[in-house]
This record gives sequence, structure tokens and C-alpha cells, in this order.
Amino acid sequence: MTGGVRLSGVPASPGAAVGRAFLLDSRRVQEPREHIPPERAAQEVARLHDAIARSDQQLAEIRGKLLGQPQEHALIIEAHRLMLTDPTLIGGAEALIKSDLVNAEWAVRRIVRRLRTAFDDIDDPYFRERQNDVDYVGDRIVQNLLGVPTELTEPPPADAVLVSNDLSPAEAMMLLGSGHRIAGIVTDLGGRTSHTAIVARALEVPAVLGCERASELVGQGDLIALDGTAGLVVIEPSEQDLAEIERAAGEYREEEERALATKELEARTTDGIQVTLRANIELVEEVPSIIAHGADGVGLYRTEFLFLNRKEPPTEEEHFQTYRRLLEALPGRPVTVRTFDLGGEKALAARAKPEVNPSLGLRAVRYCLAHPELFLPQLRALWRASPYGELKVMFPMVSGVSELRRARAYFERAREEVVRDGYRVAKSLPLGIMVETPAAVEVADLLAKEVSFFSVGTNDLIQYTLAIDRTNQDVAYLYQPLHPAILRMLGRAVEVGRQHGIDVALCGEMAGDPAYTLILLALGVTELSMVGNSIPRVKELLRRTSSKEAKELFQSALALAGNDEVEAYVRHEMRRRYPDLFAQPAEAHAG
Ligand code: PEP
Ligand code: MG
Repeated sequence: MTGGVRLSGVPASPGAAVGRAFLLDSRRVQEPREHIPPERAAQEVARLHDAIARSDQQLAEIRGKLLGQPQEHALIIEAHRLMLTDPTLIGGAEALIKSDLVNAEWAVRRIVRRLRTAFDDIDDPYFRERQNDVDYVGDRIVQNLLGVPTELTEPPPADAVLVSNDLSPAEAMMLLGSGHRIAGIVTDLGGRTSHTAIVARALEVPAVLGCERASELVGQGDLIALDGTAGLVVIEPSEQDLAEIERAAGEYREEEERALATKELEARTTDGIQVTLRANIELVEEVPSIIAHGADGVGLYRTEFLFLNRKEPPTEEEHFQTYRRLLEALPGRPVTVRTFDLGGEKALAARAKPEVNPSLGLRAVRYCLAHPELFLPQLRALWRASPYGELKVMFPMVSGVSELRRARAYFERAREEVVRDGYRVAKSLPLGIMVETPAAVEVADLLAKEVSFFSVGTNDLIQYTLAIDRTNQDVAYLYQPLHPAILRMLGRAVEVGRQHGIDVALCGEMAGDPAYTLILLALGVTELSMVGNSIPRVKELLRRTSSKEAKELFQSALALAGNDEVEAYVRHEMRRRYPDLFAQPAEAHAG
């Protein structure tokens, strides 16, 4: 094969780019193991002290950047700094260098292992957590001994492609918080709904994730070309590879420009069907980007992101400040806040109890009901924020009426409490549910009597209906939004909504894929919520079609019984009818 090494991964954020690799090795570094001559011991001890001093300096810098963040974060960093002065760790490593004549890296690892096992016998979650802290401090010292960057503490240069095994939520947030753009992101792990993907899309940085071995194969400073639309990465690209990626980048830019020009235009079909397009967000920082892409408010704010990346849950005041900021950033536009959907794949690290089947476990509204100490502060904060904009609230993963009523009782209790505490609140708050379990579709008529709106979460509805774990790559091929079972369910949810006079929106990833726009239109969906940068293309499609055309496509698709055939037929038809909106995906080879 001529040209560079090609890797394929998950197309997590669209666009294409070329840049030098900024390699961040976040994997547990393998320490070199060396037996040293006695005369080198003093030198190794000096290296050890140097690495410890550097580690302390880094932690002090991180501590400085945490001003204004919860005290808890600062305390963790201080605890790590304290460990760096611990005689068991330092003195122990020093003694090992001298007695066993091993290099500093090896000595640090051996001591860390010893300290870990000391915690092993203590059956207390607090001490188990300390094991991770010892590891974390040990890793930092070893990385400093090796001169490997320990973590992303400031954004890489603007023209760099960040290549890493994975990005921690802290690193992803730091990138987002800095508002600093980089050329691209490539990681070994992660899928379309990982933190990194979400942050990349919010920053509008092309990203290819889940490349498996990228961080192993890429060297610091290698030239990297990536196409985040096709999920393609080329290491040290040839002239031909570069031309291919640059063509993809040009096409994407042109398409973006053309699509952004539709910002002020209505999402209305040629025969006058109006569709409301809103954005899914995870962070308030995404608001300027969704406005630029023409979102009419927020259809899904995933509040569980407020809980991640920290040890203690957010306080009522933090919840309140966030919702207020969000509502004030979107005056006059509806904002639907979903109460936290923790558990399942979005486990709260500090509290996670291992579950055999997390997706079928204590997740979403079930988790909320099991943890009123987390749920009530959020609900109180939502009521307190209610006078600041057009707030709507919804519960995730409701599976029946009793569950909804239990959650609603907390919602009402929160209102009574904040009113009693003297806060001003809106007269009422529209309350809705996510329809994302087959049970909710089956009893949609019963649920519709008790809520003001539905929002269909196709990501989970597909997972639970087709019985495929959405995080399992091996069954990803079965993830078929156009499976007739799914189409029937969507049709029913929309119909029940119509009969009961309540709004039905759709907020799963399916909403943002223009290949499905006509099908959703034919099903009668009139509100879609998606990642901001999908809005212009979906809008353009809507403006170029009619409900008649959509219905015809839908009927022909439904005539095909095979689930694979339906998907293939619709994609083929969309490409044929709108060739300018559906470029052929670039070819990717596993490297
Ligand atoms: C969904 O399930 O479709 C959805 C939008 O929610 P999440 O992806 O957060 O589970
Ligand atoms: Mg869901």
C-alpha cells in the first residue's frame, strides 16, 4: 500500500483536518526495569527527587487553576501533594534503589504496589478510594521520571491534532472551558456518545474516536490527517492521502457555510409543514454554538454531566446557578432540562456499585427515586430557576405510571419547599417524560394523561427494543433506527400524543441524521432535538422536501419486511435524491 498508515474509527465529530500529533499518553505507562551498578544509585535517587519536585509543582499549578471550583477538588489535590512527602513512599523508593539496585521507575512501582496491598485488607470504601490515589501519585512520578506529559493541563497548539488513549472528563472540560480550538482529536477509546465526542462536537473540532491503537502507532509530532465525517485517520499521509483529506475538508467547509446561511430560515417543508429544531446539550458552554447553528432552544439538556468528573454531587446552589445561566443565555426560547440520567454507562464513579447489567439496573429515574438526597436539590433548583426563562422539565427512562407519579411527588414537594423558603417560582412548569423504554410506548396512552409532553429517546428505545447494548461494539451492527419494530413504536408514540393533545419530540441521535429526516416527517414528528451542528443539514432537507414525498418514501420502505433492506433502501434513496447532501463516505482501511 502506498501512502500513510490508515486507521478507521468512530466518526465522532464531522470535518477534516491535517496537523502535527500532540501525543498525550494517558495509559498507565510501562516502567522500564533496570538493574543498576552501585555507583549509579545516587544518580537514581537524585532523579527520583527531581521527579517528585516536578510532580509537586504540577499539582500546585493544577490547584491554582481550581480557584472558584468546589473545595472538594482542591482537597484531593492537596492530599496528593501530601503523599509526595510521605516517608513510606519516598523513603521506601529510595531504600529500594540502594538495597536492590534498581532504577527509580521500578522502585516507585514496587513501593506503590506494596502500599496498595496494605489497603487491600481494609474493607472500607474510603480506603479503597485511597488505593486509586496512591496509583495516581505513583503514575505521575513515573511519568515525570520518563519525561512523558502527565495530562492535558493546557490546550495543545491550535494547529495540533490531539492523539491520546482517552481523554478524562477533566481534560475534555478543560478543552471546552478554554474555548480554544485545536485541529483535531484522535483517541483509542470512546464512541459517539462519550464525553470526548460531545466536547469535540461542541468545539466543532473534527474527531475520530475508538481507533484502538492510534496512541501506540502515532509518534510525537507525526503528521496526521483525519476525516471526522468518515471516521478515517492517516498517519504520515502521502501526497495522495493529503489531497483526499483536503478535499473532504473543503467539502465540509462549503457545506457548513451553505448550511449556516439557513440559520434565519424556517424549517418548513415546501407544502408548509413546520418542524421545530432544537439542540441537545451537555454543557452551558455549548449555547453560542447551538445559536449559531439556528437552534430554537434546547430540547434536551443532559444534567448528569453536572455530576461527572467530581467526587461530590453538585449542591442545590450550583444546580440553580447553572440552570439560571442557561435560561438567561436563551431568552424567549424553550429549554427542556432532563433530570439526571445517572447509572448505566454514566456511572457516578465515587458511588458506583458494580452491576451485572447496568443498562437494566439502577439507572435514570430509578436512580433518582433511590437517591432523594440527590434528586430533591436538583428539583428545588429547577423550581428556583423557573422564573428566569421558558423552562420545561422531564424525567428519563420512565417505564410506567407509578414511577412517574413517584417522581412527580418529589417534583411537587420541591415546589412546596422552595415556596415555603420564600423563593419566587413560576406558576407552573411543563413536566414531561422521555419515552425510551418499550413499556412506555405500550402504555403511552396512560402516561399521556399525566404529562404535558413526550420526548422520544431513540438511543435507548432502540437498545431496549432490539435488545442490543448500546456500548457493545460487537452488536453495533444491529443498531437500526429504521427497523420496522422501531418505526411502529415511533408511529404509536406520535399518534398517542396527537390523540391526547400533547407535544411529541424526538431527541435521540436518530433526529440529527439527515438520512432519517423524511421518515420522521412521514411519521408526523414535528419537533426534533439534535447536536447543534446537525441542525443546518436537517433544516435544508426539510426545506427541499414535501410531506407527500416523505410519505411515499416511507410507504415504499415499509413494504420491505427485512430490517437490513429498509435501512439500505432509505439511505440509497436519500443519496439518489439529494446527492449534494449525502457525499459518498470515504474509504477507510483498518491499519
Ligand atoms: C436517548 O436515549 O435517545 C437519549 C436521548 O438519551 P441518552 O442518549 O442520554 O440516554
Ligand atoms: Mg436515553
